Amino acid sequence: MGKSNLLYEGKAKRLFETEDPQVLRVVYLDQATALNGVRKDMIQGKAELNNQITAIIFEYFNQKGLLNHFIKKISKDEQLVESLKIIPLEVVIRNVSAGSFSKRLSISEGQQLEFPILEFYYKDDHLDDPMINDDHVKFLKIATEEEIATIKHEAHKVNRVLLDLFKQIGIRLIDFKIEFGRRPDGTILLADEITPDTCRLWDEKTSSHLDKDVYRKNLGEIVPVYQEVLDRLKQKFN
Ligand code: ADP
Ligand code: UDP
Repeated sequence: MGKSNLLYEGKAKRLFETEDPQVLRVVYLDQATALNGVRKDMIQGKAELNNQITAIIFEYFNQKGLLNHFIKKISKDEQLVESLKIIPLEVVIRNVSAGSFSKRLSISEGQQLEFPILEFYYKDDHLDDPMINDDHVKFLKIATEEEIATIKHEAHKVNRVLLDLFKQIGIRLIDFKIEFGRRPDGTILLADEITPDTCRLWDEKTSSHLDKDVYRKNLGEIVPVYQEVLDRLKQKFN
């Protein structure tokens, strides 16, 4: 691919420059982490699965008019995306209680929420990604009030489309995390990934976990579980 400077090495992906300054090459890694990187394991096959899953979902979003950074998949573990200035927020939407929400509020996992709950976390590993609110986002100059409204609106749209998509393949979307970035002209665009690493997905019939909780909670191998999500998506789109 010619010039290929490594821009960033993360826990799940590497980002490389390309000849086009507006385009990045994302390489998915065969690596799983938990506890902000404290626990780390090599998991062969994970990169390929996440690259395919996120590509299918982002292509589907494009068809639905939900614009995002995805350009195209170029190999089993690589894709091209639009280069953006990432807004340092993890935007979480919850449909069902689980994870940190359940712990923080002492609500047992698996309760359907009356409405989707959106949370912001400040993407800062040194601070351990604390949960923040709109005022903090404004105070820290992460985003303006208008941008916060756009991010919330887009995140809820993502939730509606994802809920419907996963329902069609027998999966309950419990919660997920997304990120947004800015184009040079300031337009806000959905970025990063949507995979079983970043979503909680429960089988509709058995409630078994089809996501990274299998790794977090030591419930078994994640490759067969991610493969199951990919197979169901492929069945829908083939
Ligand atoms: P982490 O940074 O949490 O270890 P990853 O390994 O997934 O996570 O790293 C990927 C990085 O790439 C993230 O920091 C994410 O914000 C960033 N990123 C995702 N999409 C884009 C994009 N379109 N342009 C620039 N950076 C992006
Ligand atoms: N999530 C993520 N990256 C993070 C933290 C959370 O992708 O750094 C996702 C997680 O997979 C889940 C949702 O965001 O789908 C909500 O996670 P939660 O706040 O419950 O945190 P957890 O208990 O998973 O750390």
